[in-house]
Amino acid sequence: MLKIENLHAGVDGKEILKGISLTVNPGELHAIMGRNGSGKSTLANVITGRDSYEVMSGSVTYNEVDLLELSPENRALSGIFMSFQYPVVIPGVNTTYLLRAALNAKLKNNGLKEINAADFMRLIREKLKLVNMDEKYLSRAVNDGFSGGEKKRNEILQMLTLEPELSILDETDSGLDIDALKIVAEGVNNFRNSDRSFLAITHYQRLLEYMKPDHVHVLIDGKIVKSGDITLAHELEEKGYSWLES
Ligand code: ADP
Ligand code: MG
Repeated sequence: MLKIENLHAGVDGKEILKGISLTVNPGELHAIMGRNGSGKSTLANVITGRDSYEVMSGSVTYNEVDLLELSPENRALSGIFMSFQYPVVIPGVNTTYLLRAALNAKLKNNGLKEINAADFMRLIREKLKLVNMDEKYLSRAVNDGFSGGEKKRNEILQMLTLEPELSILDETDSGLDIDALKIVAEGVNNFRNSDRSFLAITHYQRLLEYMKPDHVHVLIDGKIVKSGDITLAHELEEKGYSWLES
């Protein structure tokens, strides 16, 4: 589904990703672990096509399409979703409005009929339950005054509503208390199926106890220095990252 080959990328001419190769097949959950500043968010930003991130060399293909040629909008429309490490507050934009507009853009792109307000409310109420969010959030501006945990749950609500094929979760666990962490992990787990893939970026193995990854990769200074299974995450918890540094 996603194939990254020898990707070098960065910002302002500064190389941050120094040769990343990674293949994610349908149905797989890959965890990307690494210290602060190792390039995890940069990788997520490059895949989703965020402004100001430049690709110096290498390739990223998604369902056989050259992803780097697509605009961020078209990447989203083709099924890629990102939950931000730092979700943005959008004052004046109602949460329901944003979600419905995003869903309708996607439906339209796929040649399907747009969803009307009443049907959307029925749909969103179901999704809200899955992340244990109160309906009152819907009438508020996007993330405006939301606590850290509420913002993260709102990101997962977006994922559940848009039903992406590839979800990139950038430290969705940070700022969550243990109950919220379980809710978020369960939300993701119930959403997993053989067609959907995930890149879960995290510092801690805690999240991975709830969200069983198929593969775990360690990023140090813009390179994947080691890949393995969940036991690698346990090893990191015990020994830290320094033993992997060259
Ligand atoms: P991580 O998510 O693993 O903590 P990041 O990808 O956010 O790491 O950052 C990797 C490195 O790239 C850091 O040194 C960071 O300061 C730098 N960096 C990331 N984004 C930018 C940017 N927009 N402008 C300048 N430097 C950046
Ligand atoms: Mg980050």
